[in-house]
Amino acid sequence: MPPREADKLALSLASPAHHVPGIGPATAAGLATLGLTTISRLIAHLPMRHEQQEAEATIAELAPGRLVSARGEVAATRLVRAGRKPRFQAVLTDGTARLDLVWFNQTYLAQRILPGVRLRVQGEAKRFGPGLQLANPSYEILRDDQEPPERLASVRPVYSANSTIDSRQIQRAIAAALPIALPLIVDHLPEAFRAKRNLPSLAEAYRMQHAPATIEETRASRRRLAYDELLFMQLAVAMKRRQLREQGKAPVLRWNQTIDQRIRARVPFALTPAQERVVGEIAQDLASSTPTNRLLQGDVGAGKTVVAAYAALLAVASGKQAALAAPTELLAEQHFRSFETLLRGSSVRLGFLSASLGKPERARTLAKLESGEIDLVIGTHALLRENVRFNDLALAIIDEQHRFGVSQRAKFRDAAGERLPHMLVMTATPIPRTLALSLFGDLDVSTIDELPPGRRPVRTRVVGGSTRDAVYAFVRERLDLGEQAFIVAPAIGERQDEPGSEDPESELELGAMHHALAEGAALGGDEGAPEAGTEAENASREAPPIHTGASVASIMESLQAGALSGKRLAAIHGRLAAPQRDRVMNEFREGAIDALVATTIVEVGVDVPNATIMVVEDADRFGLSQLHQLRGRVGRGKKPGVCVLIASPTTEVGVERLHALEATTDGFALAEKDLELRGMGDVFGLRQSGMPPFRVADLSRDSDLLRLAQQDAQEWIRQSPELSREDEAALRRRVIRTHGAFFGLGDVG
Ligand code: ADP
Ligand code: MG
Repeated sequence: MPPREADKLALSLASPAHHVPGIGPATAAGLATLGLTTISRLIAHLPMRHEQQEAEATIAELAPGRLVSARGEVAATRLVRAGRKPRFQAVLTDGTARLDLVWFNQTYLAQRILPGVRLRVQGEAKRFGPGLQLANPSYEILRDDQEPPERLASVRPVYSANSTIDSRQIQRAIAAALPIALPLIVDHLPEAFRAKRNLPSLAEAYRMQHAPATIEETRASRRRLAYDELLFMQLAVAMKRRQLREQGKAPVLRWNQTIDQRIRARVPFALTPAQERVVGEIAQDLASSTPTNRLLQGDVGAGKTVVAAYAALLAVASGKQAALAAPTELLAEQHFRSFETLLRGSSVRLGFLSASLGKPERARTLAKLESGEIDLVIGTHALLRENVRFNDLALAIIDEQHRFGVSQRAKFRDAAGERLPHMLVMTATPIPRTLALSLFGDLDVSTIDELPPGRRPVRTRVVGGSTRDAVYAFVRERLDLGEQAFIVAPAIGERQDEPGSEDPESELELGAMHHALAEGAALGGDEGAPEAGTEAENASREAPPIHTGASVASIMESLQAGALSGKRLAAIHGRLAAPQRDRVMNEFREGAIDALVATTIVEVGVDVPNATIMVVEDADRFGLSQLHQLRGRVGRGKKPGVCVLIASPTTEVGVERLHALEATTDGFALAEKDLELRGMGDVFGLRQSGMPPFRVADLSRDSDLLRLAQQDAQEWIRQSPELSREDEAALRRRVIRTHGAFFGLGDVG
C-alpha cells in the first residue's frame, strides 16, 4: 500500500520505525532487538562496512581468486560438528556447474539454508577439488514469488545484525525510511562552510552510507561523518578552554635571571636541551595572568621531576605556594625524598600530605597549608580533597595525569577557593599526539623528547612460559653478582576474587575489557550476523578464556622453594599496610632485599639504580604502555637493564604487541602502536573515562582530519565563543549533548 502524502508529512525523525510504510510489525520487532525503535535511530545505524557487489554470473563462468556472485538452488547440505570449528556446508547448482559453500561457526544456518532453497551468494572463489568453493560467503535467500533481477556491479552496505534480523532486512528497512528521513535531517554546518571544506551535506552523507552509488561515495560520506565527530569534540574543547581562561586570573609569577640562577644552583646536572625548552614554555605560562593548563609529557626517565621542581620553585620565589600530587603513596613519598634532597639547606618549607598520616599530623599540615607556613606540599589524592585549604596556591602539579582524569583536574582547581592556580599536569605515559589533542585538548602540551645523556636502553626479550626455569636461572646469576630484580605479576593472589585490585591501571584495563564486551552486546555486536566476517574474525570474537595465572603469592611461593631459594625475596603490593610497604621498599633500595615480587604498584616512578632486571609474568595481560613503564624501572644506574616478558599470547594482536616492545624503546612509538592495535577505547582505559567513543572517526588514521577539525573549531570559537548565533542552534545542541557532561559544559548550555 503506497503511503498517503498526509501520513508522510506527519512523521518526524522521532517517530516509531514501524510508522514507516514498508516496515511491517515483524521487521519492526527485529529492529527493536537492536534498539532501532525510531526513524532517527534507524538512520543512525551506520553500516559496519560496505561491500563491493560483483555482477552476477553463471557458476560455470566463475573464476578462482576473484570476488564472484552467482545464484542457484541448494542441492545438498551438511552440518559438521567434528573438530574445533563446526561448519555448515552446502552445494549450490544452477544447471551450468556446482559451487561448494562453507560457513564456519555459523551452525544455525542449517535451519535457514535447506535443500531446495534458492540463494544468491557472493564471496572469494577458491579452487576446491575439480570445482570452486566460497568460504563464509554473504548470501541472500531468494523467494520464489519475488526473485530479484540479475544484479549488476554495485556497493552494498553491511550492517551489524543479530539472529533475529539480518543485514539485508535492515538494509531494506533503512531504504524504506530514507525518503522520509533525509528531508528532515537538519545540517548543523552552513552550506558555504561545507563547500569550502568539500564536505557533503549531512542528509547526503547518510544517503551515501546507506545507499551508495559508488565506493567513492562511501568515502566522501565517511569523511563528513568522521569530521563531524572530531569537530564536535574540538568545539567542546575550544569552548572549555575559553571558559577556563575567562574564569579568572591566576597569579603572575616572577621569572628573572636571579631567580633562574638560584633555582639552577640546586640542580646537580645540566638540563638537556629538551628540558630547557620545556622549562621555558612553562615559566612563560606562569609569568602570565592567564591560568596555565599545560600537559608535560616525557618518556620514563626523561627527567620531568626537575622540570616540575623548577616550576614549583618559581611559585615559592614569588612568595606563593605550590602543590604536587602523585597517584600513589609510594610515588608521593619518592617525590618528597627527591625534593628534600634538592632543597637541603634552603629556606623552602616542604610539607607532606597523604591519607596514611596520623590524625594529629594531618591536622597540623592542613593548618600550615592554610596559614602559609608550608611553601611546597607533596602528597597523594588527599591533596585534592575539598577540605584542603591553601593560603595562596599559585601552582598545582599533578603527576601521572592519565590516572586522574579530567574531573579530578577540576577538583584540584576548586581547592584554591576564589583564586585559580596554574595547572601543570605530568604524564610518563606518552600520549599519541592525536589522542592528546582530543583527550587533553584543553591543555597545552610540552614534550620532553630526549633522555638525559648516557642512558643505555633496556634490552627486552619476550619468552614463552616454557622457558620460565631458564629465565629464573639467569635472574639468579645476576643476583649472585649483587644486582637486584623486580618480578611483576598481574594479581596479588591471596584472595581469589580481586586480581591486583590495588593498582588503578590494571583495574582500568580489566574494566575496559568488560566494558568492551558489554558494549559489543548492546550494539548488537556481530554475533550471528550471517554475512559477518571471515573465519579469523569469527575466532577472535570468541570470549577470552578465564584466566587463572601468575600471582604475587604463587610466584613468591614457587621461587622461594625453587629457582631463587636462599635469595632474599619480598612481596610488595597495595594490600600491604603503608608502613610495611615503606619498610620493604627501603630495604630494597638499601640492597637488603635481592628481588621484589610485586604488582604494578612498582610501575611508576620507583627509582632504584641497582635494579637491573625486570621480569613480567603473564605479560600479555598488561597494556603496552604499562609494560614500557615497568621496564623503565631498571637500567637507571650504571649497569644496563634487562627486561624479560614471560607470556604465551593467544591472539595475533597479542603477539604483535609484545614484539613491538622488543623492537623499540621509544614510548611514543609504542603508544602509537597501542592505539593502532587496540583502538583508542582500550588505550589508557579511555572507555571508562566517560568520553563518548567515536563511531566513525578513527584517531589512528584520521589525524589529518583531526587537525583540520581542530583548526576549524578554534577559528569558530574565536568568532562565536558560545555558538549562540541563531544558525548555530543545531550545532550547539549537538556539541553539548555529545560532550557537555564530559567537559563540564553544562553551565554553558
Ligand atoms: P621521569 O621523567 O621519569 O620522572 P626523573 O625526573 O625521575 O624522570 O629523572 C630520571 C633520572 O634522571 C633521575 O635520576 C634524574 O636525577 C636524572 N636526570 C634528570 N635530568 C637529567 C639531566 N639533564 N642530566 C642528568 N640526569 C638527569
Ligand atoms: Mg617521574
